[in-house]
Amino acid sequence: MQFTGIYKGPGGVLRSFMVNREVLIAASLRDVGLRKTPVRVAVLEAVISSKKPLAAPQIIRRLGAETDSVTVYRTLNTLAEHKLLHRVRGEDGSWRYAADAAAPGVEAGEHSHAHFVCDQCGTVECLQRVPVPEDLVRSRDLGRRYDVTYAELVVHGVCPRCHD
Ligand SMILES: [Zn+2]
Ligand SMILES: [Zn+2]
Repeated sequence: MQFTGIYKGPGGVLRSFMVNREVLIAASLRDVGLRKTPVRVAVLEAVISSKKPLAAPQIIRRLGAETDSVTVYRTLNTLAEHKLLHRVRGEDGSWRYAADAAAPGVEAGEHSHAHFVCDQCGTVECLQRVPVPEDLVRSRDLGRRYDVTYAELVVHGVCPRCHD
C-alpha cells in the first residue's frame, strides 16, 4: 500500500513523499534503534492500518494463529517504550494501542492528544485534534516531590455510532 509520508528535510522544512508502508515502518524501527523483526513489522502494520486503537487480542487475531501471543505482548511493550506506539486504557481496563511516529502526517513524539472512550460500546478513539494542554499537570500544583512523566486526558461519553 502506498501513502503520503511527511519528514523534516534540510532546514527543518516539512516535505511529503509517497512511500511504501513497509519502508516507513523499517525506517521508524531504525530511527529508534530497534532491529527489524517480522513480528515488530506485523504489529506496526496492524496498528497503523487500523482507524481505531486496538487491544492486544485484536492485534493477535489479525496476525494469524501461528503468532505467539507472549511475543506480541512483549513487542507491544517494546514499541510503546520506544514511542512508536502509544497506549490508552479502555473502559474494561485493558490497554489499546495506536500508531505514533509511523502514522502518516503525525510527527515523532507528537502523541500528547486526548482520547475518547465510549461507555456504551467500549470503542477507544485517538482525538488527534485535541492536544493535552502542556500546563495540565503544572496547573494542578502537584508539588516538587512529584516527578511527572506525562499526563493523560481521557474523555468519556457516547460515540456517534451509539448516539443514533
Ligand atoms: Zn459507542
Ligand atoms: Zn491516541
